[in-house]
Amino acid sequence: MPLVMQKHEMPEQDANVRRNNFDEVALGYTEELALAEVNRCLHCKVPHCRKGCPVDIDIPAFIAKIKEGDFEGANAKIKEASSLPAICGRVCPQENQCEKYCVMGIKGEPVGIGRLERFVADYCMQNCEEKIEKTVKDDAQKVAIIGSGPAGLACAGDLAKKGYQVTIFEALHTAGGVLSYGIPEFRLPKDKVVKPEIDNLRKFMSLCKNLILMLYLLLQEQGYLIL
Ligand code: SF4
Repeated sequence: MPLVMQKHEMPEQDANVRRNNFDEVALGYTEELALAEVNRCLHCKVPHCRKGCPVDIDIPAFIAKIKEGDFEGANAKIKEASSLPAICGRVCPQENQCEKYCVMGIKGEPVGIGRLERFVADYCMQNCEEKIEKTVKDDAQKVAIIGSGPAGLACAGDLAKKGYQVTIFEALHTAGGVLSYGIPEFRLPKDKVVKPEIDNLRKFMSLCKNLILMLYLLLQEQGYLIL
C-alpha cells in the first residue's frame, strides 16, 4: 500500500453552522480516520517524535496499540507520562514538539500525533471505565500544590502516581486556571473535556477551592475590617 504523505484531515463544524454557536470547531478523528492515520507511522527504530515530547510519551507504543484496535491500551500508555491527554491532544503545540521531529515530516506531513492522542483520550472518556490504582498510603508525605492550572494539575498527577498524598489549593471557585478561564470554549470545551479530566485526577488527590473566599471569611471572623 503506498504511503500517504499528508495527514488525514480532522472533521470540523461547517462555517455556516459554527458561526451560530460556541461549540468546539474541530470534531476529532473517527475510529476509521484514526486507524488510517496510524498506518502512516513508520515505527522508527529511533523515534525522534518522542524526543520532541516534553513529558516523554512513548508515542510509537501508543500508536502501535491504536493499530491493534486496543484504544484503552493506547490511553494507558499515554497516561504513563501524561495526566491530561484529552487536553494536551487539543492544545499542545504539537507542530513545535513531537510532530516537528517526526520523520514523515521530512518529505510530507508528520503523523498527526496530537489528533491521535485526542482520539484515544476522547474514546476512553466515553467508552472505558477508568481503572483506579491507588498507590497512596495513609502515612505518605503530604504535598500542597498552589494553583490548579495545567502545571499544578500535571505536577499533582505525577506526584500522586509516585505515592504522595496531594492536595491542590485553588484561589478561585473553578479548577483549571488558564484551561478554564483562558482558552475559549470553541477550542477547549469545559464541561466535555476540562471538567472530566480534572474529575478523573481527583480520584487520586484532594482539591480545595475558594481559597480567597475562605481567607475573607477567616479575616472577618477574626474581627478585621476588610477593605
Ligand atoms: S517519528 Fe513519526 S514515523 Fe517515526 S515513530 Fe515517531 S510518529 Fe512514527
